[in-house]
Amino acid sequence: MITDFLDLGLSNEILNAVAELGFEKPTPVQGTIIPQLLAENDDIVCLAQTGTGKTAAFGLPILEYLDQENKETQVLVLSPTRELCRQITQDLQNYAKYLKRIHIVSLYGGAAITGQMKSLKDGAQIIVATPGRLLDIIKRKAADISNINTLVLDEADEMLDMGFKDELDAILESAPEDRRTLLFSATLPKEVEAIARNYMKDPKIVTVGTRNAGAENVEHYYYMVKEEDRYAALKRIADYNPDIYGIIFCRTREETQKIATALQKDGYDADALHGDLSQAQRDNVMSRLKRRALHLLVATDVAARGIDVSGLTHVINYNLPQEIELYTHRSGRTGRADRKGISIAIINQREKGKIKRIEQVIKKEFTRLPIPTAREICEKQLLHLINGINAAEVSTDIDEFLPLINEQWDSIPKEELVKKMLSYEFNRFFDYYRKAKDINIQEKPKKDTDSRKKGERKERKLSRSEKDSKNFVLEECEKGFKWVKINLGYKHNISPRTIVDIARECGANKSDVGRIEITNDCLYVAIKKDLAKKIASQIDGGTLRKYKLTAEVLK
Ligand code: ADP
Ligand code: MG
Repeated sequence: MITDFLDLGLSNEILNAVAELGFEKPTPVQGTIIPQLLAENDDIVCLAQTGTGKTAAFGLPILEYLDQENKETQVLVLSPTRELCRQITQDLQNYAKYLKRIHIVSLYGGAAITGQMKSLKDGAQIIVATPGRLLDIIKRKAADISNINTLVLDEADEMLDMGFKDELDAILESAPEDRRTLLFSATLPKEVEAIARNYMKDPKIVTVGTRNAGAENVEHYYYMVKEEDRYAALKRIADYNPDIYGIIFCRTREETQKIATALQKDGYDADALHGDLSQAQRDNVMSRLKRRALHLLVATDVAARGIDVSGLTHVINYNLPQEIELYTHRSGRTGRADRKGISIAIINQREKGKIKRIEQVIKKEFTRLPIPTAREICEKQLLHLINGINAAEVSTDIDEFLPLINEQWDSIPKEELVKKMLSYEFNRFFDYYRKAKDINIQEKPKKDTDSRKKGERKERKLSRSEKDSKNFVLEECEKGFKWVKINLGYKHNISPRTIVDIARECGANKSDVGRIEITNDCLYVAIKKDLAKKIASQIDGGTLRKYKLTAEVLK
């Protein structure tokens, strides 16, 4: 794998464009694929997680090979959705900034076909298209792909999921035999393998990173609530994260629209993206999202597939997807380009098994979090508001109005005024949360004897039940262990894994750490009797993230 753009074999024009985009070094997919595409002529199936830079991995070599003097269509890129088509086209145009005579056209449904046919008249060396629309245009003899030298199938699994199989077959049939075919996908289901077998010549399979693995930078959490509290849970999650900028996934178009409308009515910057919207509506939503004029996009899997919006903080599974594979695609919308991302699932009591199955697929664990309480949310929002006020720059323009302001406010004591101002901004939250009940579900703790019987020590150790600190009764510690109480809990985003890591850093072995009980604001970890004191004193006074730790051994 090559780790410097200069060593890839790309021309200066392309390197300059890439540098302007701020790409400092090739991603692993790029470092692996680009030299192969430039040096060899094999068909390639490339499996890599979302957000790993696949577009440039095929885009840069394609541009390198393009004959700028030839107006014929030389490259066809097929992708499943209009948004993705437009995005790939834009990316390619950016890479081709310093190549003079390159004409790239994108063809997708939902926009007037005549305009698209016209744009092909001047010759399109690269066509980026959705299968349905392309086939339509080929039938009208406005596009000719009989001389292409390269065919790229992007997000091939999704294309088949969307029922493009027949169109794909028809298109692949009319492309020349001696073309090179490149297939990109995050996963390799049977249908994609069949395409590779039938339409590719002895393809080399290149897997970068772990197949099907959740993106490295994404942390996975779930919240468990009663079915009827799902929407309330969503609102609380959004309220507890005042800087949220994310995508909320729903299963159907109807649900997507319903949730988006409800959020709007409740005062959130939210909107929907799904297939029932017109192209103009979809464009409008996407452009507001990218400008951050929209903070919450409620979307179906199909509509949001492959879209690349940088800096999304959260992906929320309002409902888990029917197919587990889709979870990978959803969570891949965040944690892109080395930034941390958070993927959240809201589930009901019967869906825990699904979380387990997803954990197996993504090879990562979920952490359960309690739904923040009304008080915690109000506290968080208030702090956000206060921090915002503290950080505001004072404009000299305000001086001019000071006499007026003083006249209005002189008679109000400062404390009163602060209260009034904060209430003005804040009553929406107070009003809603005053009546809000606790929507957390208490999970029944597993009986110790049960788990012992099954010999599931690990499971038992990591089992966590979420408890309200006030009502929490700590059970007697297991034999040979002592409880160590630490001042962090769920509300500090603590997971059992974190505690095990801390204990290990303080010199405990796996077997020295027993049960872990986490309540909202503190936790108890069982440590081998003879080590408890030593470990507690090592933890005590340390810090975790921004929190100061205290730890004490309980009697
Ligand atoms: P994928 O198709 O694998 O899901 P994309 O090609 O959409 O991923 O790229 C994801 C994001 O990473 C995009 O915003 C892209 O601009 C950015 N990116 C791609 N290559 C690099 C690089 N070498 N350095 C920095 N950012 C990159
Ligand atoms: Mg992609």
